[in-house]
Amino acid sequence: MRPIQIAIDGPSGAGKSTMAKLISQKLNIMYLDTGAMYRALALKAIRKGIDTKNGDLVTPLLKDLDIRISYENGNQKVLLDGEDVTGLIRTDEVSMGASNVSAIPEVRQKLVELQQKLASNNSVVMDGRDIGTHVLPNADVKIFLTASVKERALRRYNELKEKGLLSKSLEELEKEIELRDYNDSNRAASPLRKAEDAILLDTTGLTIEQVVEAILEIVKTKGLTHAI
Ligand code: C5P
Repeated sequence: MRPIQIAIDGPSGAGKSTMAKLISQKLNIMYLDTGAMYRALALKAIRKGIDTKNGDLVTPLLKDLDIRISYENGNQKVLLDGEDVTGLIRTDEVSMGASNVSAIPEVRQKLVELQQKLASNNSVVMDGRDIGTHVLPNADVKIFLTASVKERALRRYNELKEKGLLSKSLEELEKEIELRDYNDSNRAASPLRKAEDAILLDTTGLTIEQVVEAILEIVKTKGLTHAI
């Protein structure tokens, strides 16, 4: 059976990783969270006291960069130089750092290469910002997932509250999401944009189950029924 490739792009907090993970489980194929790679590099820079916006200082870190993504009982683990950094890359500081390092062209080149290598010959669901436009331009299914800023901030608010990590107001979270949207959409290197052949899915007001159903329906209509 030929491998199938599903690309899910969209702004921060639209639910891409939740969806990509669920879809990969339903179809029993690999899930690759590309954002985690940018996050791991950002963590490496932050730990070294390097300004994540400074390309001259961040680029040398790519030379011996060792980022691996593995799965344990269906849960993703991110290893940076052999260390499990899964939890450490989810802080707000690392989120902003990832947004910064991802604007450096050399960083994108290296990580995109790595992502393409991981996807070659494997059926995969990949989520990010440039999967449909750059990483997997020939993907069988391209989804552009979005939701209103208010809804995305509220989801993040509830998630942090549930984990007992809430330290910001809803308004502050809205501002952060707006800033990351702005950074991701306005950088020169592979800005966030919907691929022309991607299907736009606005998840505002939809439940997780409804969105999963909608994506599986798209997979079916593409004639990829062997995947389901
Ligand atoms: O998806 P996530 O929020 O984990 O991504 C962290 C940051 O990495 C994003 O804000 C974005 O700037 C960057 N990113 C990217 N291209 C990708 C995935 C993530 O530029 N394919």
